[in-house]
Amino acid sequence: MSTTEPDATATQSWRWPESQWRRHVEAVRAGRPLKPERWPDGARVAVALSFDSDHETIPLRDGHTSPGLLAQGEYGARVGAPRVLDLLARFGAPATFFMPAVSALLHPDEARSYTRDGHEIAVHGWIHERNTLLGAEDEKALVGRALDTLTDLTGQRPTGIRTPSWDFSDSTLRTILDLGFSYDSSLMADDEPYEILAAGRPTGLVEIPVDWIRDDAPYFTMDRYGAVRPHSRPRDVLEIWTDEFDAAYRSGGVFQLTLHPHVIGHRSRLIVLRELLDHIAGHPGVWFATHAELAQAVRAAIPPHEIPEHTS
Ligand SMILES: [Zn+2]
Repeated sequence: MSTTEPDATATQSWRWPESQWRRHVEAVRAGRPLKPERWPDGARVAVALSFDSDHETIPLRDGHTSPGLLAQGEYGARVGAPRVLDLLARFGAPATFFMPAVSALLHPDEARSYTRDGHEIAVHGWIHERNTLLGAEDEKALVGRALDTLTDLTGQRPTGIRTPSWDFSDSTLRTILDLGFSYDSSLMADDEPYEILAAGRPTGLVEIPVDWIRDDAPYFTMDRYGAVRPHSRPRDVLEIWTDEFDAAYRSGGVFQLTLHPHVIGHRSRLIVLRELLDHIAGHPGVWFATHAELAQAVRAAIPPHEIPEHTS
């Protein structure tokens, strides 16, 4: 979430001419819907599980270096991630791990274990920086460095990105295209994958949409000294995610979920993931896919000659 809300008085958006509000809205827009008629092997639903392995980078991003805060992230690497990997193995479910490069450098064996176990590792910034606050050069340099770091550690070059802010700066889309990613998973314009338009033009870039509804962090995290301490009963959240899956199943679409090892890895919450996977696996025709596999499957809906060439 951004901490820099635009100042409405300063921008005086009510004085904008139509050309201006249209330009803002159309800068990054949902284009062609990419849900296919059929999923691979005749599956009825695609299930794309993702884990943002942020660990210590959440406090580090903000310059918070106290052992107490870092320990909450350390829990994700030390306890959460192994539990998650064990659970995924039991269900034979491949997943995507979006890992900030600093997190991967702190836990290289964990980063390597993802790809070794048949999961996907993908880019999630350098130190979970608030990419919407960066200049174009800094943003591109950090994403490029993150891409190279994950490639060096795992021997596999990531093809996907989830921005740490779940948002785009003015230059994020350009950066993603220049660095040759095949998909992004940070935006929220649909339940189903779509092609991203840049100022009305198709980009060939697949969006696998996220949503705060299908994210563990908003339900379970709290601010130690803040006035608001959101806390949900894990089993209430299970009901929400089950309803999301059931509706995706009925419509033959995608059920996408974003979890964090340091959040979902706790005993009373991992039960929710286990029961959710039990529920999902109890249905015929479920295709568990990494985000990269999903992006590849839906990209077939874009005619090759309509995919623009991107050059930096
Ligand atoms: Zn994150």
